[in-house]
Amino acid sequence: MTLLKAEGLYKSFGKTHALEGAGLAVREGEIVAVMGPSGSGKSTLLHCIAGILPPDKGRVSYQDKDLTRMSDSDRSELRRTEFGFVFQFGQLVPELTCLENVALPLRLSGMKRKDAERAAKDWMARLEVDTVADQRPGETSGGQGQRVAVARALVTGPKVIFADEPTGALDSLNGERVMHLLTTAARETGAAVVLVTHEARVAAYSDREVVVRDGRSRDVEFAR
Ligand code: ADP
Ligand code: MG
Repeated sequence: MTLLKAEGLYKSFGKTHALEGAGLAVREGEIVAVMGPSGSGKSTLLHCIAGILPPDKGRVSYQDKDLTRMSDSDRSELRRTEFGFVFQFGQLVPELTCLENVALPLRLSGMKRKDAERAAKDWMARLEVDTVADQRPGETSGGQGQRVAVARALVTGPKVIFADEPTGALDSLNGERVMHLLTTAARETGAAVVLVTHEARVAAYSDREVVVRDGRSRDVEFAR
């Protein structure tokens, strides 16, 4: 079943036309790699389909709900409950411990500290970073930090994980480890993954690839 679908997306920043008719469909539980050279519009496409950035034109639907027409509060609620995010770097709160970072989305949903931290600890163990639970993000290695970020993205049980160059700041060994753990966890929980990358090595973890070039993408899934 198609979970998320974007069609005919346009987005400009001043005179820069970042998206000029991009589209993408994501089925339940599938891992889609969004590929393309630097500056082709991959991140802009991801931000638009995740409801972070409003497109100038086009339609984004999630389970038949139109993301572009929802109220801001409904869209934030949807992002919080259904989506998880992993970015290249800088997404962890530096003042909190890694455990508190992973527990944060659950705490924001009103879960008691003890329950949130128990669930967070479980996810950290699955991502093999329970050893850094009491450290601040600045005290961990880059690979550990990204695995903490993946644990935080998974802790709420999202239906879709958006990952923008999740291994971009890592060496190849740590990159492989993050990709292996992220995709294994996604398969186990049935979460779909939209994986933005310009590296073939990273895209190899996906079920299929969609190429973005000059702000345009054509997803063959639409033909089905
Ligand atoms: P990619 O992720 O494929 O490298 P982006 O989606 O980040 O590409 O960017 C596509 C184009 O839009 C680029 O020319 C980039 O400079 C421009 N762009 C992206 N975000 C902004 C922004 N917030 N303000 C101005 N220009 C932007
Ligand atoms: Mg980008």
